[in-house]
Amino acid sequence: MLEDGRAEATCRSRWKRVERTLAEAGRMFPILTTLLRTSVGGTLSVGGYGVRSFVDGAQVDQVERARLILPDGQAVWCSREENSELFRFALAGFGQIGVLERVVLRTVPTRSSGHLARRGPAARSPRGAGAGRGEGR
Ligand SMILES: Cc1cc2nc3c(=O)[nH]c(=O)nc-3n(C[C@H](O)[C@H](O)[C@H](O)COP(=O)(O)OP(=O)(O)OC[C@H]3O[C@@H](n4cnc5c(N)ncnc54)[C@H](O)[C@@H]3O)c2cc1C
Repeated sequence: MLEDGRAEATCRSRWKRVERTLAEAGRMFPILTTLLRTSVGGTLSVGGYGVRSFVDGAQVDQVERARLILPDGQAVWCSREENSELFRFALAGFGQIGVLERVVLRTVPTRSSGHLARRGPAARSPRGAGAGRGEGR
């Protein structure tokens, strides 16, 4: 954890590990995708959308700084103020600009969040649909 509730993470980390570490400090990342075994670099390279994206935007909107390894091997920090063009195109950039190595993320105090689940085939079957609701009796 850094000051002001920000956290620095390596992009090789999986979100599950990042979330566990943040939770120990009573914090969480505002946007989580449905699959926590993805890597930080993997979701930030596609944008990263979750159930709270309608409020907080994409994961990339919650990144303050990023350390990028350019194709020539040079490592640079970028942000909205520093190397801003690199920052803009590296996030949600499908790895085309370079490899995201580390990021500084905004975090928020841990909050309970709703869970979205798609009902599977069992729920659609007559037996599944009636289960627990007194139907078919
Ligand atoms: C079951 C499932 C559910 C999903 N749900 C969501 C969801 O809810 N919301 C959402 O936004 N997305 C979702 N996705 C998409 C997922 O976020 C992307 O596929 C993401 O790229 C996967 O990350 P990964 O760690 O597996 O990446 P990898 O498969 O390892 O890499 C995918 C690509 O990401 C890029 N990349 C990876 N690491 C880096 C790095 N460090 N620097 C630069 N580029 C890099 C590369 O272009 C690479 O080819 C889902 C995918 C699956 C399979």
